[in-house]
Amino acid sequence: MSILPRTIAIDGPAASGKSVLAERLADALGYFYLDTGLMYRAVTNEALTRGIPIHAQDAVTQLAETIEINVVPLEHHCVVTVNGRDVSDELHRPEVDRNVSAVSAYAGVRRAMTEQQRRIAERGNVILAGRDIGTVVLPNAECKIFLTASVDARAVRRMKDRLARGQQVTWQEMRAEILKRDEFDSSRSVAPLRAADDAVYLDNSDLTIDETVQRALEILQARAQVTA
Ligand code: C5P
Repeated sequence: MSILPRTIAIDGPAASGKSVLAERLADALGYFYLDTGLMYRAVTNEALTRGIPIHAQDAVTQLAETIEINVVPLEHHCVVTVNGRDVSDELHRPEVDRNVSAVSAYAGVRRAMTEQQRRIAERGNVILAGRDIGTVVLPNAECKIFLTASVDARAVRRMKDRLARGQQVTWQEMRAEILKRDEFDSSRSVAPLRAADDAVYLDNSDLTIDETVQRALEILQARAQVTA
């Protein structure tokens, strides 16, 4: 008999398809999944809503330490609440996109989010998606996947997402935004975006979602522990 990894880390750059992959794998395996980007987005959204300047590091950090964020996966999307208020529809607005990298670079904000993420992962049979899951949040995750795709492919996906949400954007704008966010996320001093040494790379530039899921399942199988 083989036992599949019980903690799975999926990291990768913006719009590489981490949350869709996490959701699909969770569905296939009966696991819980957490898109940790939503938590950083929730802090950013809350700061913007309360009029806290994004550059006010202490105030933003205090906010992150005191608000209660809940992420509940439902079919095909997650419901995110902050202190009981449903903020799900606010988290992908352009203002949040523009400010989330600055907020997530604050050490105190990361500490607060990392603590919550580790607590959630303790239950086992979990998939966490983000930027620093395999390197910082769950360095002992039983399987780590670094999901990536060309910037052009990612810009097309993000543009389709935004258009579906009724936002008017161009491919060029999305491409520029993605490059900027990748650069910011990769160069910050605390928990930068990077693949863990023991992560398996999966480039899905030319893969459909189904093919990406299939490849990920193969990676999990290869990591499965064989028991007597
Ligand atoms: O994955 P998503 O694009 O929604 O993430 C939004 C932002 O949250 C990222 O650009 C990054 O700045 C931050 N993030 C992070 N660490 C994570 C997940 C997301 O810094 N584990």
